[in-house]
Amino acid sequence: MKQNIWGRKELGIPMAAVLLGLALLLAGCGAAPIQRQTCVDTAMGTIVTQTLYVRQGGGPSESATIMQLLTELEQQELSWRIEGSEVARINAQSAEGEEENTIPVSSSMQELLGRIWQVSADSGGALDVTLGRLSRLWNLDELAVSADGDAGGISAGSDVPLIQIPTLEQIQSALEDSGYGRVRFSQGEVLLPRGMQLDLGAVGKGIACDRISAYLHSQSQVTGAVVAVGGSVVTYGQKPDGSPWSVAIMHPREEGSYLGILSLAGEHYVSTSGDYERYVMVDGVRYHHILDPFTGYPAHSGLCSVTIVSDNGLLADALSTACFVLGSEQGLALAESYGAEALFVEEDGALYMTEGMEEIFSAGR
Ligand code: AMP
Ligand code: MG
Repeated sequence: MKQNIWGRKELGIPMAAVLLGLALLLAGCGAAPIQRQTCVDTAMGTIVTQTLYVRQGGGPSESATIMQLLTELEQQELSWRIEGSEVARINAQSAEGEEENTIPVSSSMQELLGRIWQVSADSGGALDVTLGRLSRLWNLDELAVSADGDAGGISAGSDVPLIQIPTLEQIQSALEDSGYGRVRFSQGEVLLPRGMQLDLGAVGKGIACDRISAYLHSQSQVTGAVVAVGGSVVTYGQKPDGSPWSVAIMHPREEGSYLGILSLAGEHYVSTSGDYERYVMVDGVRYHHILDPFTGYPAHSGLCSVTIVSDNGLLADALSTACFVLGSEQGLALAESYGAEALFVEEDGALYMTEGMEEIFSAGR
């Protein structure tokens, strides 16, 4: 299906997260025995917006527990920056030693890597979490953040070059240390070529949504929830009035506006990857945070955003990144092969979506 809805009305709300939060929060108040808890905070380098429906008698701490859980996930498992996390330890061991290093990994990390590698293989390498050297070279974390997070005083879209564009030699050297196909796995171990560095940024927030969901399932007093971790959202259970969850999809070119709303009943995972999330403009070229593993440069596949709806958080996040790199045609085939729903926004404003997406997406408010 194709639509074009450029030029949607400016809402004038400065922060994407606040916008998303409002869309989520305004829908329905609980019946008497169920209370609504809301919380906006930061974790994993992004804004976390929570709305939980909790039966009376439940402690006030569910949202605090979720924040704690996200902090632990980042600090103990996923962050390559935080010394002591499992990914940082793997990277440290890979940086020195043999031509190929055999590195012990936890069963949880092994399971995550196995699922990530499956998407890498199925996407022909469009998703490649072994690009750690390349993502550091581009200094992706320092790219200006638009409406979605902490701008750190840098304005997105500035014409002032805020990044040092790497040279071709630097890019080629970083690419030589990457390549998911060069990694081998054995029970409890991963075998990495020396110098290869992992960056799980493309899947971390989706993994976070899976962990949140597992926690919510263990808390019988929580009857419904919607939690957004940056561009990844999990919906769970139901609202007291039985109406579906509403998840806003940001407009990729009009800050503070949104393209439309997803209506989701029950448990779903939504991830959006877009070239507007972290980027700078240099000489009219948009340098953003989603890298094409084949060129080493920010991906230019004709898209400005991809939204995936899936029954799994890691998968939704992995697919949104992979589909962005692949472009709408190949991306659509990949999403469909996983039974996921997908919405592609092209640079010319055209929208493409799967049939199932047509049923849950409504343009505008
Ligand atoms: P996302 O916003 O989920 O699409 O993830 C983007 C983040 O994943 C970036 O900030 C990088 O850390 C990392 N990344 C960028 N390009 C890729 C890629 N092609 N494959 C895997 N990870 C990537
Ligand atoms: Mg992703």
